[in-house]
Amino acid sequence: MATEQLEAAARVLESPLEQILAAKTAAAMADVLGCTTVGELLTYFPRRYAERGALADIATAAPGETVTLVGYVVGAHSRYMRSRRGKIYEFELSADPDDAGDVITVSFFNNRSLERVTRGTRLLVSGTVSVYREKRSLSHPDFEILSDDDAPDGTVDVRPVPVYPATKKVTSEHVRHSIRKILSAGLPPVLPDPLPEPLRRAESLMTYGEALQAIHAPEEVKDAYRARRRFKYEEAFLLQTVLATRRAAHQAEPATARPGRPDGVRDAFDARLPFELTAGQRETGEVIAAELAATKPMNRLLQGEVGSGKTVVALRALLQVVDSGAQTAFLAPTEVLAEQHFRSINALLGDLAGAGTLGSDPQAIRVELLTGSMPQSAKKKVLLGLASGEVDLVVGTHALLSENVSFAELGMIVVDEQHRFGVEQRDALRQRAATAPHVLIMTATPIPRTVAMTSFGDLAVSSLTELPAGRRPIASHVVALDSHPGWEQRIWERAREEIDAGRQVFVVCPLIDEPAVADPDAPPRASVESTFAYLQSQPHLAATRTAKLHGGMHSEDKEATMLAFAAGEIDLLVATTVIEVGVDVPNATLMIVLDADRFGVAQLHQLRGRIGRGGHDSLCLLVTSLPEGHPSVERLAKVASTTDGLELSEYDVETRKEGDILGAAQSGGASSLSLLRVVHDRDLIARARQAAFELVLRDPQLAGEPVLRQTIAAMDEESKEYLERA
Ligand code: ADP
Ligand code: MG
Repeated sequence: MATEQLEAAARVLESPLEQILAAKTAAAMADVLGCTTVGELLTYFPRRYAERGALADIATAAPGETVTLVGYVVGAHSRYMRSRRGKIYEFELSADPDDAGDVITVSFFNNRSLERVTRGTRLLVSGTVSVYREKRSLSHPDFEILSDDDAPDGTVDVRPVPVYPATKKVTSEHVRHSIRKILSAGLPPVLPDPLPEPLRRAESLMTYGEALQAIHAPEEVKDAYRARRRFKYEEAFLLQTVLATRRAAHQAEPATARPGRPDGVRDAFDARLPFELTAGQRETGEVIAAELAATKPMNRLLQGEVGSGKTVVALRALLQVVDSGAQTAFLAPTEVLAEQHFRSINALLGDLAGAGTLGSDPQAIRVELLTGSMPQSAKKKVLLGLASGEVDLVVGTHALLSENVSFAELGMIVVDEQHRFGVEQRDALRQRAATAPHVLIMTATPIPRTVAMTSFGDLAVSSLTELPAGRRPIASHVVALDSHPGWEQRIWERAREEIDAGRQVFVVCPLIDEPAVADPDAPPRASVESTFAYLQSQPHLAATRTAKLHGGMHSEDKEATMLAFAAGEIDLLVATTVIEVGVDVPNATLMIVLDADRFGVAQLHQLRGRIGRGGHDSLCLLVTSLPEGHPSVERLAKVASTTDGLELSEYDVETRKEGDILGAAQSGGASSLSLLRVVHDRDLIARARQAAFELVLRDPQLAGEPVLRQTIAAMDEESKEYLERA
């Protein structure tokens, strides 16, 4: 394609909307939809299509049927409501403008755009027919006001009507007319297309120009769907190209090889491990060891169920890097977790930790904790040790990201629980080191394949799929108090039985305390404070050693409580989700989650991982006051039905709103809508990913694809934000 021709076409797409639309309309498109150019408005896609070809007959539309109707307004009324603020609009619709015989009533509430509707206006409505005051009616149907240019010759156009996502200020009709105006002014014959031509052909996709025409003004709905497929593929391909270039850029940064050494602390650690590594731990360990020994920075995600032994894998990697003479950092999302990791790493290392202290192993390394709430003097000591290189492994929170932390030579970073750690933060950490450190990210939240391909698409992924031997399955049940109020008492008796058998119990509440101003309409919610007080008032629990744990407590108190619980000095812990990750108390066998409907699927699964960590059978009770059949109760039933984290995360992705997973910013322009459905479009995403990674491998600068290169450059900032939020 001639460059001049493409440039001219690009100019058309970049031209301001005012050149084609009325100033007022252009301003509304900019303010409300964020579209200022022709190209931006053309990527504001319809939500669906009303098919005029499948129009129902107004005279025969029956109650209960969902129909699309086109008719003339033969009666129009509007009135203010007495009981509520607002206005009701009622229209009688007839197939024939001069015959008010077989009419159907359509009614709307508060919609100013209907002020323009008068006798003789043609309306397209779609909704479900009901009967109101003995008349057939549609209340709040989707509607379109049809104007003369919809059918200049007075006949009904049979082409599908695109229905755009509307706002109060800009209606679907408004968008439709604006876009029609642009299309009828004529687009250049060839538009710059970010999809490489061979790929477009291989996937049998429309060109950019064809697809714009077909998505906004399809002859038939199936054409619109072909166009959507093209834009979906484009969206997936662009995102994957961003990820592929990002990964290529990281890989191109020089890193120092950290091959470790024979008979170093890693080998000493392996020799003392009280258990055999699982096959998965061994294999992942080998992959990681090889990557650390290379001069490209490792960027790997390690996923595995809670308790699958990720920490051991991570620690072995850190020790290899320490054996290579560099320092390492272990980052946790909260102070409680950092403290816990610090303890468990020390426990795993035994006398291989504590370098310099009396009686430590000559091989021993120096492990330190650094958190924001530590006393200044202690912090200073650690900071000095990091700057001088004496500290080999530092465990901490985001405090490690702050400006005043400098390392003599940082070789590797482990990040626990990636989902609370953004791309920006990862980048910030990387800058702590002279050459790019190796990065291992651990997550216990199983990541559905599609999300792994998108949100984590610039990382290589390893999974630990088997649990170490000796784990017991966890039984889970939904306790629906609404239908079985008597069960409330039974829960606490069950806790008593467990404690009498020498076990320990977690009680998890969604709140720390009752809100100061309670919402009178909301049901009361369990809080740590009220539950704690209630349990203490129960005679049969009087002898139980009960404690509280929540994020509002001082960190020393939290730590003391956790230690006491781990040591078996506390029988029953009433807590918020601060216990969510990392806590390892094998003797805890019962978890009671109060108002469990307040938690998400992933969170419940995480919480449940706190039990079943020893050799005893464990039980998780998901307590709810919501009525059976409520969607949130169905969610709980799903969590109770399986302990397969991957299955739960796929379920989570399917039932959550798509926008929560793939923020809108990932797609081309600010105005365009994301068409991708992560679960549904998994295969398409996989194909786009493969194509993008192959292309970037062949042509890292995208020199052969100038349009793609430009599109990616414009997207990169946006996609960063998106990855940040994902
Ligand atoms: P994760 O970090 O994946 O939650 P951890 O590494 O903390 O899992 O391991 C959970 C528990 O299982 C720890 O007590 C750990 O020492 C133990 N563990 C790890 N790997 C094995 C193994 N291969 N065999 C037996 N126990 C193991
Ligand atoms: Mg762990």
